[in-house]
Amino acid sequence: MPDSCIFCKIIGGEIPGTFVYQDDRLVVLEDINPQAPHHYLIVPRKHIRTTLDLTSADNELIGHIYQIAGKIAHDRGFAEDGFRIVNNCNAAGGQVVWHIHFHLLGGRDMGWPPG
Ligand code: 5GP
Repeated sequence: MPDSCIFCKIIGGEIPGTFVYQDDRLVVLEDINPQAPHHYLIVPRKHIRTTLDLTSADNELIGHIYQIAGKIAHDRGFAEDGFRIVNNCNAAGGQVVWHIHFHLLGGRDMGWPPG
């Protein structure tokens, strides 16, 4: 893992984060700059830089991420209203933290197309 990775530092406890769920493969934390009433970041413990760096070895991990997204939405009461899962990849995709993560957004109506 790069020394500069902020999500590795949060996962490692070097800097604070508000965790809402964690297991052996991933953590879920509150986004520091929420864009919806519910805005969580689902972050694998494994340092993967972007979606383009995924391999077939990560297939089960990605399935697990989506399963946990649904569980969090259900447990926090916004599953039935609806929610959005976003993965930004590379600069034009809006990625600013270079450790793969999935935004889970809920609690309001989402616009389309996204900005
Ligand atoms: P990206 O644009 O890379 O998909 O999203 C990065 C997200 O990480 C942003 O929504 C941003 O608010 C969030 N973020 C950046 N730094 C921190 C931090 O130190 N703690 C937490 N909890 N979220 C962060």
